[in-house]
Amino acid sequence: MSFSLDVKNELLSVEQNDCCRLARDYAFLLYGRAFSVKEIAILTEHEAIATAFAGAIKHLSGAEISPEKTKGEKFRVSVTDKAVLSDVAEKLGLSDSSFKKRVNFANIAEPCCYNAFLRGVFLACGTVTDPEKEYHLEFSVSSKGLADDLMHVFDEFEPTPKVTQRSGSYTVYFKNSADIEDVLAIMGATENSMMYMHAKVVKDIRNTVNRKVNFEQANINRTVVAATKQYEAIAKIKEKIGFDALPPELREIAKLRYIHREVSNAEIASMLSKPLTVSGVNHRFQKLIKIAGELK
Ligand SMILES: [Zn+2]
Repeated sequence: MSFSLDVKNELLSVEQNDCCRLARDYAFLLYGRAFSVKEIAILTEHEAIATAFAGAIKHLSGAEISPEKTKGEKFRVSVTDKAVLSDVAEKLGLSDSSFKKRVNFANIAEPCCYNAFLRGVFLACGTVTDPEKEYHLEFSVSSKGLADDLMHVFDEFEPTPKVTQRSGSYTVYFKNSADIEDVLAIMGATENSMMYMHAKVVKDIRNTVNRKVNFEQANINRTVVAATKQYEAIAKIKEKIGFDALPPELREIAKLRYIHREVSNAEIASMLSKPLTVSGVNHRFQKLIKIAGELK
């Protein structure tokens, strides 16, 4: 099941009083596929959404409408019956001319109803990406007027969406994980909001750990490459001229590297009979590499 559907299922289970119910149903219908004097309709992949849409129409008009399954495995609810449409219009205070174009804010009566309205918009045209993948919540809106009105509803709340136009439709969206958490909670999907927060924390920790592991791995690789180069030079010296030919301050360090092939220069420094800094050790290895380079 998609994360969007999880959220929608939670939104459908939110208990609401009458004022909020009207605001939610209104938004659900208005931001669906069609909302005009000729037709109110939704087309959705999810049967539960279609059933809830039919429920909203029943609540406003008393009419029983069953979702139908389309050939493309989607679910459609469509009302074209004039009597039903006029009942819905009357309940929502809409005239023929105010249908569709803009939000009738009289249907968002109380502060609580703004949350319910957003819940309805999301049910109709919202999607949210699984936080494991990316942070993205959007409302896909059919007209500029409805996009503007949706932005206006968001003025009541803290997070501010962005809007973009895409091939004739308008996308009102959030890309910040904290904003998305807030929007989910505002709409009433509190459980999914918590899950969202949790997923983000887990992802952040995983990223930090991976960064650290990569960093440490890179350090280890560098150490091994350096030590191998030193070892090869020293093995050549041993073979060609022997350790006894080296000055005493290089001899001990050469023997240590010859025995301990993969330890870091810092560890070599700690093994010396007379203490030396790591850069002192580096310096002596450079000398040994130079000597080896000059041997035939
Ligand atoms: Zn309310």
